[in-house]
Amino acid sequence: MSGDYGDFYATKQWGFPKAEAADHVPSPEQFMPEYLLDPTFYEKGYHREELGAGFHWVTSPAGYDAAFMQTGNGVIVIDAPPTLGENLQAAIESVTDEPVTHVVYSHWHSDHIGAASMFGQDVEYVAHDITRELLERFPDRYRPVPTSTFATDATLEVNGELLELSYKGADHCPGNIYAWAPAQKVLTKVDIVSPGSVTFMHADASENISGFFQAHDDILSYDFTALVGGHISRWGTRQDVEAAREYWHDLRDFADEAIKEMSEPEALQGFLVGLGREHQLVGAENWINSMVNYITEKTLTKITSDGRTWPERLAGATPFTKYHAYTVMESSRLERTHHGYQQRGSGGPWFIV
Ligand SMILES: [Zn+2]
Repeated sequence: MSGDYGDFYATKQWGFPKAEAADHVPSPEQFMPEYLLDPTFYEKGYHREELGAGFHWVTSPAGYDAAFMQTGNGVIVIDAPPTLGENLQAAIESVTDEPVTHVVYSHWHSDHIGAASMFGQDVEYVAHDITRELLERFPDRYRPVPTSTFATDATLEVNGELLELSYKGADHCPGNIYAWAPAQKVLTKVDIVSPGSVTFMHADASENISGFFQAHDDILSYDFTALVGGHISRWGTRQDVEAAREYWHDLRDFADEAIKEMSEPEALQGFLVGLGREHQLVGAENWINSMVNYITEKTLTKITSDGRTWPERLAGATPFTKYHAYTVMESSRLERTHHGYQQRGSGGPWFIV
């Protein structure tokens, strides 16, 4: 750094402080199934469970999950995370000699399908139309362009085994689909609910938070006994999805409160007192962070529907809730209705709420 501010930059600690374990609540027991404590999981690089007849869930030590389905005449794979990589092939070969004939992409993200190319060019790659568009637009040698796509609904039938694919609109990202195995009652819907935890930061980097909320309801509209959520070394039950849904609705309720209270013109002006135009964005940061802190504290200390707090129910609540609070608050301001707009002739202060 140079110029008049050289010393100023040198003495500053920028960014976030280092998180310390002592400042956080440990994950609840439901988040730590036995196989995570088994050294062979880490030696093999995968753990596999059969969730329904011929439908298998596979997870990796890195917390990325995929699935595959035996049909008696070839294997249908759902997703191929690079962190699982060829260990997914090992998991398939541990139960069947059938070759892989289909690879279904849940969505276009590299972290979930970035090992798909290992299945070669003789398989069908099945995905949503938008996923094909994105992979044609941003080509990747590790993510073959889908060979078969659909717009709203499609049924993949191999040797009488069914996988019903459905697209209900953008959520985590455009083109993120539902894959439903009706005979096994297993639903795959990736990057919405991470069973047992609050999901990764910023609603798992979701692009459309209104769609992210809706996806929880859409997941629950299926009569599933197991959910493959893509993370994080846990498959999910209805109870897991209901808990996640309740957590997000708490965040949204507190976000509504925070926006209402702190975005009234008078409150807003308070964040700018004593700041000139040159420091106006410092006031903006304090305004945003005050809302985030309010939402975070309210969410973490609330006694929830089963009598416990969120840190007692879901892993990652204390480190990640502040990121979710930001995402829900900011998306509420962007995606949901405002309560009006500036009236002609009223000048300032700004009208935001
Ligand atoms: Zn994703």
